[in-house]
Amino acid sequence: MAIKLQMLTEDPKEIELIERYWAVDESGQYLEKVSALGGIIEMAQGVSLASFIRQRCNAFDENQVCPKCAELIEIRNRSEAKKVPQRPSKFCTVCQEDQDAIALEAEKAKAAELERQLTEYVRKQSTRTVDYSEIPDNQVILLLALDRAITPRLTNGGFTVGDCRGLAPRYVADFVLQLREAGLVLDDPSKARPGTYYWEGDEIWMLREQVVYRLAPDAASKSAEEIIRGLLDRVYTDAEGIFNLWLDYSVADVMRYLGAQCELYNHDLSEQELEEIKSTMRSALEIYSVSQLWSVVWKVVRDAASLANREYYNRPKAAATIPGKIRRNLEKVQRESIELKAWSRPEQHPAGTLGMVLCEILGVDENTSGHMVSSLVTWFIGQASSPTAEAELDEPIRELMTVALAHDIGSSVMLRFAELIRAGHDVGFAIEEIGEALRS
Ligand SMILES: [Zn+2]
Repeated sequence: MAIKLQMLTEDPKEIELIERYWAVDESGQYLEKVSALGGIIEMAQGVSLASFIRQRCNAFDENQVCPKCAELIEIRNRSEAKKVPQRPSKFCTVCQEDQDAIALEAEKAKAAELERQLTEYVRKQSTRTVDYSEIPDNQVILLLALDRAITPRLTNGGFTVGDCRGLAPRYVADFVLQLREAGLVLDDPSKARPGTYYWEGDEIWMLREQVVYRLAPDAASKSAEEIIRGLLDRVYTDAEGIFNLWLDYSVADVMRYLGAQCELYNHDLSEQELEEIKSTMRSALEIYSVSQLWSVVWKVVRDAASLANREYYNRPKAAATIPGKIRRNLEKVQRESIELKAWSRPEQHPAGTLGMVLCEILGVDENTSGHMVSSLVTWFIGQASSPTAEAELDEPIRELMTVALAHDIGSSVMLRFAELIRAGHDVGFAIEEIGEALRS
């Protein structure tokens, strides 16, 4: 017999029924059908034969052995029995309980260790301070914009990335991460929801969107409000840092528009394609304005949509042409000095507080070309076009004006000049371009 029985009853009728229920032949087949055993003993309503028998007898399968203690495995009904010996895999009840207790103990220890490490982390964080008068310009602008996006939570308790939605059109988490990496905003595990920090193997991981941040304390123990007020008085000196922040922000403004357009036409771009477009746009923004690049996006996305409807094309194939089309489009514009049209800001796409702060400091918005922003930033921080750069323009400008006046074509020269500037070229290039055209 492959099933070992341990009777818990002494009633001979019940014992007989139990033995008949579990009886098997040499091949492991049950001798009687369950349905044939149904009427032998009267059972309370709702009680199945299997559970009636289980209450009166423990059954152990000789074909299943506990890998740990080599005892037989207890089975609850016929379907759990095996006809042939099994490779040990399942623990017996006693060993399983031991195992569970060990696992539970280990889990508790890990939870306690997590708690300990987070407390230690909070303790270390609280000793770290920042001298806000020393932080770079781009970080000052980001903090001012963040304060405006989540006021009063930056200075008054904690905030999550989700709270910062109003900061920028896209990549909000990346901007917050910039501040975190600079040590200006700190994680505050004591304020985060349970489960925000967890073990992944031997490392502590976190659910980024649940992390609660706060402003790092000031070295001179100023209150958070005082820190922000102090930042408002900043005298800016880092042209490159500010221009790069404007590029980061403007890329986000262009990419949000691209996202909305692609959604409209069901173009599904891969992460890699989006990264490619992002790089192209970032370098184009050194010349053009955000609103000019919106018009490029608008045209290319529509072209791809009409491509998708053509024979031998499908949506993924058409969408995959978008990064290349954007690049070629911009190359053509630059090669042929084409003036890009400027789109106006869609109503549902606000500039974000970072855009507003940049606008207040530099007077730039989505219609300001990258060339212009670069000049403005340089001028703004007092390194305005160095005397030598200006002196270099003196001669070609004098020459151009002389020729223009002599031929009485002053107005057409000025119109062409304005056109080139609007197309995103700088003054030097425009003068040279017109001069060459006049000479040929
Ligand atoms: Zn065991």
